[in-house]
Amino acid sequence: MTNEMWMAIVSNDASYDGIFYYAVKSTGIFCRPSCKSRPPKRENITIFKSSDEAIAANFRPCKRCKPKSGKLPDEEWISVITQYIDRSYMENLSLAHLAQISHGSPYHLHRIFKKTTGQTPVEYIQMIRIEHAKKLLVTSQLTISEAGKNVGLHNTPYFITLFKKLTGITPAQYRQTASSQHQGGYGL
Ligand SMILES: [Zn+2]
Repeated sequence: MTNEMWMAIVSNDASYDGIFYYAVKSTGIFCRPSCKSRPPKRENITIFKSSDEAIAANFRPCKRCKPKSGKLPDEEWISVITQYIDRSYMENLSLAHLAQISHGSPYHLHRIFKKTTGQTPVEYIQMIRIEHAKKLLVTSQLTISEAGKNVGLHNTPYFITLFKKLTGITPAQYRQTASSQHQGGYGL
């Protein structure tokens, strides 16, 4: 167990929920980091990456923090939405549309998305689009404008501005840098 994990357990830090679980030898029970139960002795703790692993090692889920379900309901909900974005990034995505397909209000979606991922839905969509655009610029002969359209950014000046905002360089500079690195042959 790392000091970081120990600190998360002692401070009941919910941001580590879903990242690891801790089991206590003396009680045979395992918990989420955020569990409000009394902090156990450090030497009694075993760390697991998933609730399934803890159960396989014969630990029982805590009745208080209910770690058996693995992901928290919010995380489950948001992962459905990020998977949808990952598949549909080239389409016309809006917060209202995402809210509709995920059966929530745009306001609630925005808030929970940000809380769960650290990004707003729009920031996440932009990031995914630019990641795909980077691949297209390096692996295809598409023009800058076509590359933008292929990832759902139909307004070319906006595509270039956004690309530069997220990567620090323009799509043309990115393509040039990437191709010169490929031809260099020395790698890193
Ligand atoms: Zn617990």
